[in-house]
Amino acid sequence: MAPEKQDPQTDTAGLIEAAQPAARCSRQARVSWGSRVVTIGGDAPVRVQSMTNTDTVDVIETAIQVKELAIAGSELVRITVNTPEAAQAVPAIREQLDRMGIDVPLIGDFHYNGHRLLTEFPDCAAALSKYRINPGNVGKGDKRDRQFAQMIEAAMRHGKPVRIGVNWGSLDQELLAALMDENARRATPWDAKQVMYQALVSSAIQSAEYARELGMDPNQVLISCKVSGVQDLVSVYRELARRCDYPLHLGLTEAGMGTKGTVASTAALSLLLQEGIGDTIRVSLTPQPGESRTQEVVVALEILQALGLRAFNPSVTACPGCGRTTSTTFQELAKQIDDFLRAQMPVWRARYPGVENMKLAVMGCIVNGPGESKHADIGISLPGTGEAPAAPVFIDGEKAMTLRGEGIARDFQKIVEDYIERRFGAATAAH
Ligand code: SF4
Repeated sequence: MAPEKQDPQTDTAGLIEAAQPAARCSRQARVSWGSRVVTIGGDAPVRVQSMTNTDTVDVIETAIQVKELAIAGSELVRITVNTPEAAQAVPAIREQLDRMGIDVPLIGDFHYNGHRLLTEFPDCAAALSKYRINPGNVGKGDKRDRQFAQMIEAAMRHGKPVRIGVNWGSLDQELLAALMDENARRATPWDAKQVMYQALVSSAIQSAEYARELGMDPNQVLISCKVSGVQDLVSVYRELARRCDYPLHLGLTEAGMGTKGTVASTAALSLLLQEGIGDTIRVSLTPQPGESRTQEVVVALEILQALGLRAFNPSVTACPGCGRTTSTTFQELAKQIDDFLRAQMPVWRARYPGVENMKLAVMGCIVNGPGESKHADIGISLPGTGEAPAAPVFIDGEKAMTLRGEGIARDFQKIVEDYIERRFGAATAAH
């Protein structure tokens, strides 16, 4: 029987749509230092930020950590400003960074005394590029509005954007108590968790609206509502995104250490970013003893790259290995290539535009090796246990050569370098 005639324009039965992150229409804020402008929200890419854990009073140590975070890929770095001494150190940290050629914008993190520090230390207020204000601890009773207003006035005087950063660990207790009372009067009271969500979102939105009443440009206001539970974060940010168009700073607060913190942050941020929620992210990892603070930046970059939202480094696809790989050769090669690419990126990023989109594959045997390698720009399929000691290399989907002997890793690295020069070096020359 002849196959049924199909109209290629209308035949979509069985078509599987490609998944992609949704877009959210938000305002766009500008955070700047010198000629460096970092836009957040609107059509800007999702930005990566981080926070130091040094004593801000220690100018050199703080400047060095800010530099490390910036080189790792943090586009904004937040520092604690908690005392007059810390406020005094901020301009010196800024100068030190400028001397080192690091123009990453600095954000001041204020709690309790920000109104005084920003007023009494104008050089600190000027050296920062953005202020984080926590409405849960700007003061109680009638002091609250007055002290909040002082911080907003400092921001307007110095032309700086602010983040209204609510955290459930320091939620405005007066607002929460008022919402609890209101809830008690409901015919069917909400669950306490629902009231807490409401308090978080209301605290952020009401504070942002108050900042606007004080004259703050709405395009210079960002908001966040951080909680430490994945599902709680999803609930709160969906509601925030529904109720306002401010750029959203997204992060799972107090995510924890190591694998737990990394997985929880990835799960929470991925769910929301896929829905188009989140304009700048921070991964709040507790460093393991001896671990670099930059790990939180590495995780943030990996989340954005894995979701296809941004590309920072060439990606290496490597199989997990199994009983067909009884030697560690392919693990070593995968690591060697990954380390090599990351080490080269600070130079390559400028020299080879587009190299961050490159895909490599390092595979352990013939089962998926050639297939996966053909999907990559360059792939190598190493010999599994019992296979002939030969490693075919695939370039742009075609088998290009076969490597043998002791120097496979070195030879493959050279092939990768030549490919990058050929493909991405030409782009530089053409421009
Ligand atoms: S590609 Fe080969 S070695 Fe790697 S996981 Fe699959 S079967 Fe195992």
